[in-house]
Amino acid sequence: MKRGKVKLPQGIERGTGSKSGQQVAIVGGSASGFFTASLLARAGCSVQVLERSEQLDPTPRTLIVTSHMRTLLGEIGERAVVNEIRKFELYTDGRSAHVPLDRPDLIIERSRLIRGLAEQAQAEGAKISFGNRFMSLESNGTGLRVGVERQQGGKAEELHADVVVGADGALSRVAQAAGWPRQPTVPLVQAIVRVPADMRPDTVRVWFIPDDTPYFYWLIPESPERAALGLIGEDGQETRRCLERFMEKRGFTPLGFQGARIPVYDRWTPVERRVGAGKVFLVGDAAGQVKVTTVGGIVTGFRGAIGVSEAILNGGESRELRSLRRELDVHLLIRKTIHQFKQADYSRLVDLMNASTRRSLSQYTRDEAASILWHIALSQPRLLLLGLRGLLSGGSILPKNRG
Ligand SMILES: Cc1cc2nc3c(=O)[nH]c(=O)nc-3n(C[C@H](O)[C@H](O)[C@H](O)COP(=O)(O)OP(=O)(O)OC[C@H]3O[C@@H](n4cnc5c(N)ncnc54)[C@H](O)[C@@H]3O)c2cc1C
Repeated sequence: MKRGKVKLPQGIERGTGSKSGQQVAIVGGSASGFFTASLLARAGCSVQVLERSEQLDPTPRTLIVTSHMRTLLGEIGERAVVNEIRKFELYTDGRSAHVPLDRPDLIIERSRLIRGLAEQAQAEGAKISFGNRFMSLESNGTGLRVGVERQQGGKAEELHADVVVGADGALSRVAQAAGWPRQPTVPLVQAIVRVPADMRPDTVRVWFIPDDTPYFYWLIPESPERAALGLIGEDGQETRRCLERFMEKRGFTPLGFQGARIPVYDRWTPVERRVGAGKVFLVGDAAGQVKVTTVGGIVTGFRGAIGVSEAILNGGESRELRSLRRELDVHLLIRKTIHQFKQADYSRLVDLMNASTRRSLSQYTRDEAASILWHIALSQPRLLLLGLRGLLSGGSILPKNRG
């Protein structure tokens, strides 16, 4: 098996975990769980991943991520790349603006990525137990007693861990068991369609239609033939209806649908809790580590994995988590500014996308929200004023039924 390189981030040193002899149970064998497992096993911790699926069979799905994934994952990430995006086209109300990217965004195949991460975690020494559903945790005096149910036969088992990491997604049972409040979620629906004849495979199209969604529609080509057309909404059924209307109006035929609920970041979730003598951490979607501008969670989940690993190895300290929090908060600020936008605001926004603003957007990856905001503030203060209006005239980004 070819081993990809995990560059150990600063703060995670080889062998640190073995010195402390920590036994870590990671609940959830997906992107953020397997990456956390690799980092901790490489540092020397005794790591077991508990995944409820019977086998490694991640749903195939194409995702768009920033090029930062390359820096974080190296070869493992590279193997999952199926296309590169060099341009964004923004549409609203008959207007359009084109934004070239200096560093391409990457289209990745999720199942390939997760397989690669699982192989890597195992190669680093982590044990993966499939068909094990996490049920409960409680203090056992020296650490944590973790209750697990075998998927086949429903047999209940227990194991000991000093640390439990919840990497079990938006509806995390680990978070619930350790007393974290439930996080808000929004529905994401997308259809696989044929790439329109007038569209290049290195371009993503985005439509702002505030009557349908405070977010946006996207069309992301995964190959010269196929693309994912989707949107994030507030109500599941209404979001699906919007997508169907959109496809009918523009002549798209769905080849299949994908969807799920994803977390909305509305404030930083502290990632660590103590349960008796044990420690519990959350990472990825379970901790709401999702950019609320685009609702992308892959790269931020990897950063969360580095942060949580640092915190486990360094007694709670993590530079990466501090920096991730700053980044997610800036995305929240940007989302709040545009969440209240009316059609007229979007029209002006696209009109104002002059050369200097486009340059600032294209120079940075979409993860570097703080740099983008600063650059836009300097080069195009009118845009920021427009956004500020949205911020002052409401500010909540939670789905209406969640206040
Ligand atoms: C349709 C769709 C499109 C998306 N597009 C993008 C995109 O283009 N770019 C982007 O960056 N992000 C995108 N996202 C978001 C991204 O997929 C998530 O942020 C990311 O997958 C989160 O990874 P995770 O490992 O934290 O959680 P998950 O991938 O949700 O993994 C959780 C794992 O935990 C397991 N599990 C759950 N409960 C238990 C239990 N009790 N016991 C044991 N195991 C359990 C599950 O089986 C699963 O394997 C998209 C999401 C969806 C739904």
